[in-house]
Amino acid sequence: MEVDDLYQEVILDHFKKPRCHGCLAGPCAGCTIYNPLCGDQIVLNLRLSDKVVSEIAFSGHGCSISQAAASMMTDLCRGKTVEQARTLAQQFRELMRGERKSEDSPELGDAISLEGVRNFSSRVKCATLAWEALDRCLDNAEKSEQAEVKE
Ligand code: ZN
Repeated sequence: MEVDDLYQEVILDHFKKPRCHGCLAGPCAGCTIYNPLCGDQIVLNLRLSDKVVSEIAFSGHGCSISQAAASMMTDLCRGKTVEQARTLAQQFRELMRGERKSEDSPELGDAISLEGVRNFSSRVKCATLAWEALDRCLDNAEKSEQAEVKE
């Protein structure tokens, strides 16, 4: 298998026409995350309403895998509860570690097209970067929600 095989149609489509691309005005949480191995950067913003990811957007730059993965992740997590979004992140990591099969993971949607990336260990970080950003943003959002409750 060549690296070129990684760039399937679905991945290229997300790379060329990213979903949820941009930034949110007054997001509830945001973070910027880097993959120095490849030079990828993802800026993720999201807003929670009643423990649901009501809005989510990303920007950044880097290889097509990192940017396509961010597009797939935001598309999947929009409208999901925090718990569902965290489960998706967990499932995606399992897919990347080879502990989960794409055919058993319909809930991962287009993100299963990244399954082949796991055969290129140096690129796995490109695919998981957006999900790391998601976890950080959810942590931040939940912390700020708790802080608000205390006040
Ligand atoms: Zn990359």
